[in-house]
Amino acid sequence: MTVRVRFAPSPTGWLHIGGLRTALFNYLYARKHGGSFILRIEDTDRTRYVEGAIENLIEALHWSGLDFDEGPKIIDGALQQVGDRGPYIQSERLELYKKYVDQLIASGHAYYCFCTKERLDDIRKEREVKGLVPKYDGFCRSVPQEEAKKRIEAGEPYVVRMKLPAGEDITFQDLVRGKITINTDDMDDQVLLKSDGFPTYHMAVVVDDHLMGVTHIVRGEEWLPSTPKHVYLYQALGWEKPTYVHLPTVLNKDRKKLSKRQGDVSVEDFKSAGYLPEALVNYLALLGWSPDKEDEFMTLEEMVELFDFDRVSKTGGIFDVEKLNWVNAHYIRHLENGELLDRAKPFMVEALGYSMEEIEERREYYEIMMEAFKENAATLKVLADKCKLFSPGPVTYEEDTKEWLESEDLPTLKEAIIELLDEGDMTLERAGTFMKELKEKTGIKGKNLFMPVRSLLTGAAHGPEFHHVLYLLGKDEILRRVKG
Ligand code: GLU
Repeated sequence: MTVRVRFAPSPTGWLHIGGLRTALFNYLYARKHGGSFILRIEDTDRTRYVEGAIENLIEALHWSGLDFDEGPKIIDGALQQVGDRGPYIQSERLELYKKYVDQLIASGHAYYCFCTKERLDDIRKEREVKGLVPKYDGFCRSVPQEEAKKRIEAGEPYVVRMKLPAGEDITFQDLVRGKITINTDDMDDQVLLKSDGFPTYHMAVVVDDHLMGVTHIVRGEEWLPSTPKHVYLYQALGWEKPTYVHLPTVLNKDRKKLSKRQGDVSVEDFKSAGYLPEALVNYLALLGWSPDKEDEFMTLEEMVELFDFDRVSKTGGIFDVEKLNWVNAHYIRHLENGELLDRAKPFMVEALGYSMEEIEERREYYEIMMEAFKENAATLKVLADKCKLFSPGPVTYEEDTKEWLESEDLPTLKEAIIELLDEGDMTLERAGTFMKELKEKTGIKGKNLFMPVRSLLTGAAHGPEFHHVLYLLGKDEILRRVKG
């Protein structure tokens, strides 16, 4: 069997990182088994549709490195669909859903329902008072099909509902959660076709997964309660059901579902905060999956190699931004300076107000700046902000520099720096030996030498290595800061 999996987001906004984790696990499984990874857009809820969201989803997946084989892609700036099981956008498949809804009605697995909103509200309230879960009372089940057709022709609004048999067990196997059984008496006659002619998610998802040949449904556990309805539809349509895999929800530290209210949750947010895609993807892989590996750092290829649903847990992965920062810092630290500069450039333009061209013209200089800060930067944004240290302008002195700025050695050091710089420029080579020169000239050494000079030049008691500070500030800026 060739594995076919799909990621099926609704275009209701930016891609949530929980969604990216789902996409990732689908991707890993497809690649591991030489299968296909499909992107399908589930846009049947027109009230929640957001303009531009499809393009954003595609872009976010591309940025994350999760390339898919079939689905809508942006080619030469235009949205095009790739693959022979399309269209991959549900609103373009309405005829197909209609066909299968008709089939379900004909076979007695579904029925027309004419109940008004008022009536449905009354039923809901009545059940609420009795402490029961909301459920349709089956009132329209008994409307004969002939009569229903006449009412439809007369223009009466209607929906189509699934007709669940009484007292039947629906069973399916989930690769993470094991065997799940639910009785139809505990289920609702789910609406399949809405009054606007659009299918509900439940109808569309089953038709599409079947027609697109999806073998494994890998999605968030919030869809678990819907699965028995889907299994019923597979049975009613005479189709073989796929294998189900429900992934644990991505939670915040309070073990609640990660939501926008707590801060960044979309892939876009993390991209613009300066996280590297490989770091974000590596971190997300660990939310709910524990690979059999000593350390936690993995390229996508390594993840593909190691991935299996066996080691996906039932309980939620806790999203911990501190840990993500740690992973991101690791990736930043291990990038070549040139590569890091390319990635950091947009953030530096933003933070320093330079143009891309200015940075390109002094590429070597800025690569050394990357070297100076890359040991200790959680994000590209933090890294770019740190680079402000070398921009001409007034220095702000941190509290703990005070004692060093009051050092009795400082006047001597200042004078010596001015004299030494008079003798020559601050080349990269000289930056490496300058403090030695200064020590020899003044006889001041150790902390008493380094701390006052560092405090004076950078406004901080800690920071990049000295030779970087000196070279990156350069002669003119050092003199300006020394002369105050
Ligand atoms: N359209 C659903 C969503 O937005 C997909 C659910 C599924 O994968 O079946 O998450």
